[in-house]
Amino acid sequence: MNKFLEELIELNRLERKLKELEPVEAGIKAPLSKLENQKKALEERLEKLEEEIKNIKLKRSKNELLIAELKEKLKDIEEKQNKVKSEKEFKALQIEEELAREQIEAANEEIERFEKILEQKEEEKEELKKEIEKIDAEITLTKVDVDKKLETVEKQKEELYKKRDELIKKMNPNIYRFYEKIKRWAGITAVAPIKKQACTGCNMKINDKIFSEVLKGEEIVTCPHCGRVLFVEEEDKDKE
Ligand SMILES: [Zn+2]
Repeated sequence: MNKFLEELIELNRLERKLKELEPVEAGIKAPLSKLENQKKALEERLEKLEEEIKNIKLKRSKNELLIAELKEKLKDIEEKQNKVKSEKEFKALQIEEELAREQIEAANEEIERFEKILEQKEEEKEELKKEIEKIDAEITLTKVDVDKKLETVEKQKEELYKKRDELIKKMNPNIYRFYEKIKRWAGITAVAPIKKQACTGCNMKINDKIFSEVLKGEEIVTCPHCGRVLFVEEEDKDKE
């Protein structure tokens, strides 16, 4: 077979193998990614919850401040009441006093309501923290397993890359550039085997003349329909 063609087929074979390892790698990482996504979602919920707790505490302290102010006001009213001279003035102060007491009561009720919500949110927060801890432990365990499996794939990849680099180094640069140019649009199918006398890149039939040229393998032949480099796999040669 033509040496250049042979190298192109080999280069493509190595690159196809590298491509095949991508889903394998993703599959190995999948359980870890899933756990990490779960952890992220929990952390986001925790962050939101902490923000809510902060807001409720702020509302609570506003009410506490209001109560302090109203108590000051009551003291003030009491002092004034001791000094009043007319019934009318006294009544007016009495109304003011009642209003302040009602406001204090309302503020206290609000505070009580906020306390209940806070208690509930704090409980939720603790639960979330526990869940995150649990997932962290799972992540640590899973990572050990994933890393071990990835190591095997990593070794395979390294070997393939090494072979690929060595091959490219000894290849004719023009042939390599020609391949890279087809790869730009055809990707990993830049070199396509013929199956049932059709290009597996574009699925178009290959006429007898071109087919016999490809079978001979004396030259680099491209598909007349799509431009991919054609070849016939060894195991298919007897069948054709
Ligand atoms: Zn084609």
